[in-house]
Amino acid sequence: MKNLTLLGSTGSIGRQTLEVAAANPDRLRIRALAAHSNVDVMLSQIRQCKPDLAVLTDQAAAEELRRRYDGKTEILAGEEGLLAAATYEETDTVLGAMVGYAGLEPTLAAIESGKDIALANKETLVAAGHLVMEAVAENHVRLTPVDSEHSAIFQSLRGGTHDEVKRLILTASGGPFLHLSKEELAHVTVEQSLHHPNWNMGRKVTVDSSTLANKGLEVMEAHWLFQMPYSKIDVVIHPQSIVHSLVEFCDGAVLAQLGVPDMRLPIQYALSFPERYRCAFDQLDLVQAGPLTFLEPDTDKFPALAIAIACGKAGGTLPCVFNAANEVCVEAFLAGRIRYLEIPELIRRTVEAHENISRPGIAQIRETDARTRRYTERLIAER
Ligand code: NDP
Ligand code: MG
Repeated sequence: MKNLTLLGSTGSIGRQTLEVAAANPDRLRIRALAAHSNVDVMLSQIRQCKPDLAVLTDQAAAEELRRRYDGKTEILAGEEGLLAAATYEETDTVLGAMVGYAGLEPTLAAIESGKDIALANKETLVAAGHLVMEAVAENHVRLTPVDSEHSAIFQSLRGGTHDEVKRLILTASGGPFLHLSKEELAHVTVEQSLHHPNWNMGRKVTVDSSTLANKGLEVMEAHWLFQMPYSKIDVVIHPQSIVHSLVEFCDGAVLAQLGVPDMRLPIQYALSFPERYRCAFDQLDLVQAGPLTFLEPDTDKFPALAIAIACGKAGGTLPCVFNAANEVCVEAFLAGRIRYLEIPELIRRTVEAHENISRPGIAQIRETDARTRRYTERLIAER
């Protein structure tokens, strides 16, 4: 039996994780849930899973939850509550499904208290991959990927040694705007950007998928998870999202993991590893999947991918800057404050203005994240 804390339980990955737990009741037990402010969903999750702890980081929402709930689960609030859930003594595995940089500190706290981590929250590895991986090594915990591409690579890597790997090939659906011209991209609306062809995800990652910033974040995520140099990580567009990613070995063999686009599969694998549990969900029918196609990403149309990779290669605080600028721009775009093509443009300007710091500690990461947000906000206000 694995005892879980689920950070970000009310979101897309969070809700699907609870479906995986419900499908494996004698293997997975939910001990703590945490989210930001969604009282209705949290209340129904508490009633369904009966965790020991439930946390809403928003104080007013936590108070409302306390007023509306009258049962045995202890309700906590704020950052303190979040850290208590991340380090809860009855928990052995923390599934990180919060969105954005906010997931970094609770993930580090969980690692430092000896918890295994199943990680969906890629921004954590982007902002401070060196600190997260050092903490994982020092505390002898296991970090398994939830992101579908990284789950595919993680599984394919079992076919050879680290030294035998020639390159990792991350697939990208290309998002809803794959075939639009640059001129057409200029007029993209929020509503259009929230319609992903293959996946039903949270708003931020859906916009990131459409700009290919998501694939840029995932290249950095792969660099840290698999300890691979950037020269050995490639991206290929695969619009059907059936081949979730591939590993090419030195002898020319290419191993891939395939499946229907359903996040419950990689979530379950991240929790079942090194075992495999039986699948309770739909499985792949190759004939029905139809032709599988692959093409080169167009970084002229989608510059966020190239900017992200350049930041990853430069290292230091630049990946954190890329991430913070992207978070601010996506939020501003969703709020109707900037246009679609301003997202990569404002990220580029923020990144270019940054003076890189190598091997930043956590205090420098915090400072860089906060300062970058102010800088990008100022660019938005002044334009
Ligand atoms: P959602 O926006 O659907 O959910 C985000 C979750 O995080 C919600 O539970 C939200 O709570 C919670 N949250 C946000 N801010 C805070 C905070 N400050 N403190 C505590 N909780 C917080 O996101 P997704 O589930 O789509 O994505 C989660 C992560 O997984 C992202 O990093 C994403 O890139 C990654 N991912 C997602 C995939 C997907 O299919 N959705 C696929 C692969 C990776 P509340 O609801 O109360 O606001
Ligand atoms: Mg992914």
